[in-house]
Amino acid sequence: MEILTRVAEMKERAREIVREGSSIGVVPTMGYLHDGHMSLIRRARRENEVCVATIFVNPTQFGPNEDLDKYPRDPDADRAKCMEAGVDFLFTPSPEDIYPPGYQTYVTVEDLSGPLCGASRPTHFRGVATIVLKLFNICLATRAYFGLKDYQQFQVIRTMARDLNLETQVIGLPTVRESDGLAMSSRNAYLSPDQRKQALCLNEALEEASALMKSGEKDPRKYLTAMEDRIIREPQARIDYLNLVDPESLEELKEVNGRGLAAIAVFIGATRLIDNRILSP
Ligand code: AMP
Repeated sequence: MEILTRVAEMKERAREIVREGSSIGVVPTMGYLHDGHMSLIRRARRENEVCVATIFVNPTQFGPNEDLDKYPRDPDADRAKCMEAGVDFLFTPSPEDIYPPGYQTYVTVEDLSGPLCGASRPTHFRGVATIVLKLFNICLATRAYFGLKDYQQFQVIRTMARDLNLETQVIGLPTVRESDGLAMSSRNAYLSPDQRKQALCLNEALEEASALMKSGEKDPRKYLTAMEDRIIREPQARIDYLNLVDPESLEELKEVNGRGLAAIAVFIGATRLIDNRILSP
């Protein structure tokens, strides 16, 4: 495995690979890798001649009072995991190289960036779309892999790729969970043992919603109430949002007819966690 830290270097290596006619599978991450990330890396490894993992804690997707400075990092463990998974290139650029002085270009995917996480993190998806487009261009990604745990992010990126006629094929893979159902997340590291137990309310709330869908419930308010009731049982849980939306447009459902996306964000203490589930009858 080669570790590259410079944009120019990564781009040059990617050009060589493309010249040879090989495909490049890219997995963008912010590091502190867990099995969710590794599922993306394994898939990229299988489907492409060359596999690139990127680790970059992207400042432009964090709001002013968010956890950029304390975001968990473990470069040695990340390196070992990537090596073991057969990653060919680990790209870990610096913020100064990605956003040099004078940097001023951002990508906005308009409607999809507004609801859900966009409501409480107004500049988040602009930062995400921008860094992902830059990484596609730097790594000359044939395919890129994203987790459906960040469902809205996936829709934003997929739409950006479509709207801007990108060459990169965007692939979404299922959420990997701990054995008790908690969605894996680097931010789970912030939780105390007691908070870790309380965090199960996210997945369990989604299960309540799933059961309502199976029972044929048509009133979206019933779903929201059921999810809320489950979450507020936990003393340290504070709801950022919970919603039932159309899985493509992310617009709120007025009536449940067919598929829906239940999406939630909950603070457990100071840690904001998200989860979602596609519900189908
Ligand atoms: P992050 O490092 O949190 O920015 O995540 C990097 C990529 O891994 C994103 O595409 C995430 O959606 C994906 N990811 C994070 N957690 C999970 C998970 N539990 N299961 C599957 N993919 C995940």
